[in-house]
Amino acid sequence: MSQQDGEKKQEEKKPKAVALLSGGLDSSLAVRMMLEQGVEVEAVAIKTPFCDFDCGKGCGHRVKEVADELGIKLKTVYFGEEYLRMLKDPKYGYGSGMNPCIDCRGMMYNAAKDHMEKTGADFVITGEVLFQRPMSQNNRALHIIEKEAGMEGRVLRPLSAKHLPPTNAEKSGLIKRENMGDIKGRSRKGQLAMAKHFGLADPPNAAGGCLLTDPAFSKRVEDIMDYCDDIPSLNDIELLKVGRHFRLTADAKLVVGRNKDENEVIKALVTQNDIVFEAKDYVGPTCVLRSKKHDEELVKKCASIALRYSDAPKDAESKVRIAINGTETEVIALPADSSEIDTMRI
Ligand code: SF4
Repeated sequence: MSQQDGEKKQEEKKPKAVALLSGGLDSSLAVRMMLEQGVEVEAVAIKTPFCDFDCGKGCGHRVKEVADELGIKLKTVYFGEEYLRMLKDPKYGYGSGMNPCIDCRGMMYNAAKDHMEKTGADFVITGEVLFQRPMSQNNRALHIIEKEAGMEGRVLRPLSAKHLPPTNAEKSGLIKRENMGDIKGRSRKGQLAMAKHFGLADPPNAAGGCLLTDPAFSKRVEDIMDYCDDIPSLNDIELLKVGRHFRLTADAKLVVGRNKDENEVIKALVTQNDIVFEAKDYVGPTCVLRSKKHDEELVKKCASIALRYSDAPKDAESKVRIAINGTETEVIALPADSSEIDTMRI
């Protein structure tokens, strides 16, 4: 190959970006803007213990379908215990719930950076829109996240780029800044206009079903973080997603299924030291006591709560089946009084 051919080939090399793809409208628009400019794009999708690709509303819903529609490769990165460790004490604190958005985005940027380095991409793109989310999408937060991940100048937010300092990709001419977006704020008007431009008749909803922004769920997370010695297990987190939760003592919590499906999930999550309670002669919930130690009084209390949510008569004693480590036993109890147990509800 002559030097001229080599130079031509170099000139023809497409710029390459790694996108943080959530499955929502914003990140898929960011990808489309890049593809329209001739940039090669690969995507990274992040799954935390608090958003589920299959829950129908989580941050990652539809992400696989969206990547397929965009015709780009997708790599899924799962955050597990390291995420819980960060959540226990996030450097930049929590948002309105237990959402540690700045630290969380920092971890996501790191994952995208890894993929960028592995694939030889030039920069990372995200669907972030300036001022769309109070905690993580203001100038200061965007700068912090970028800095923490060692990605200064290498993260392009195509939707808001004109409101942000030029990135390396723009400065070096890989990307034309004049073709970038100038959307900011919480209105979706700009994104919908852009969706129309790309011929998206039925654009996906904005992503953002993270459970950590849910006030009721956040209370459960706060409770488990307060009461566990180190970090909760991933099983503990799954258990937070089902049932009614009761804090009985500093190290004892009871989870009561609300329907048949939840009862099945609870059964599937039972671990070796858990104690399972079910009304023996009546239809009722599956309940699991998770505690370091238990005594007769605690067991009786759990049995009475199990009866409270069963079809057992409220004014008479009934039997409750108890399973500990595969051994079954029974206890007789009166259904608990609602006013008493309401105070324990998380
Ligand atoms: S809402 Fe915040 S904590 Fe939840 S996934 Fe998004 S950035 Fe992370």
